[in-house]
Amino acid sequence: MASQIVKRMPHAILLAGPVGMGKRAFASNLIQALSCEYPQKGGYGCGSCSGCRLQCAGSHPDNMTLSPKEGKQTISVNQIRQLQSHLALKARQSLFKTVAIFPAEEMTLNAANSLLKILEEPPSKTVLVLITSAFLQLPITIRSRCQQFFFAPLKSQEAQVWLQQRLSSSMDLDPMTLLMLSGGGPLRALEYAEQDFLSYRKDFLNNLFSLAQGELDLFEMVKNCLKNDLGEPLYWMSTLAGDMLRLRSGVSKRFLVNRDVADSLQLLVRRATFEMLFTLQKKATCNREMWKGQININSQLLLEGILIQWLMCFSESHHEHT
Ligand SMILES: [Zn+2]
Repeated sequence: MASQIVKRMPHAILLAGPVGMGKRAFASNLIQALSCEYPQKGGYGCGSCSGCRLQCAGSHPDNMTLSPKEGKQTISVNQIRQLQSHLALKARQSLFKTVAIFPAEEMTLNAANSLLKILEEPPSKTVLVLITSAFLQLPITIRSRCQQFFFAPLKSQEAQVWLQQRLSSSMDLDPMTLLMLSGGGPLRALEYAEQDFLSYRKDFLNNLFSLAQGELDLFEMVKNCLKNDLGEPLYWMSTLAGDMLRLRSGVSKRFLVNRDVADSLQLLVRRATFEMLFTLQKKATCNREMWKGQININSQLLLEGILIQWLMCFSESHHEHT
């Protein structure tokens, strides 16, 4: 039985799909099952043997989890070197050595190259699980050496029902809006609700609109924003720019991501050219990638740059050309 599992398990598995689809939960269930002394039907761990208990506690000697270190945005080549030494030793307790890497797309180029060497000659009885929400950002050489599993977004009806059951009634939030704003993954949408991202977003958007009306100082806004994580605001900026391009092309308000502020966007769109909106969208997306990918990025400059671009969209100077 055990030898059959060893033969059947792929060396590397890639779990891909939008954030919030349960990829990490799937990976930890799989890793637990591989360490379990009494695997259950359906491929689950028993939950009570010492292998299961150590995995649940995150302290199983045969498992290694690689993520960006605290305060860092990327998985470094040093971490992959540590992985190499980890894999050089035989499994101490379970049949398999297991590795989880997420977000796999955050490996530096050097890290990805080192991992590739491991994937090219995988040690026996080892299962690497790579998790990514940005499949195409992973080098094709890595992707092609993994068995790939895609977590497709749920049909929105199913996702709405799932989310509705988990939202406490006191939150008074519309599941559809949450799903739209968080990019479609139900777990991510739930996180949005629980971490109060929506009121952060509301403040941020209000500030953006005040900025466009000349009622708020740009540097005041930057100062306030820097107290929080920048990933979400940069994402919101790119969805706003996308929505304004839709409005500029005559798309109905009900197809917008930010439907709740459709009227404010409609007013602003009249003051912006296609060209300016395209530039804004490109810059927001690009800044978000930069912010995600770099260790020593200057958040203040990044934010100032995008807000200046936002202001330029609505400034008077290009009116005569529209
Ligand atoms: Zn068990």
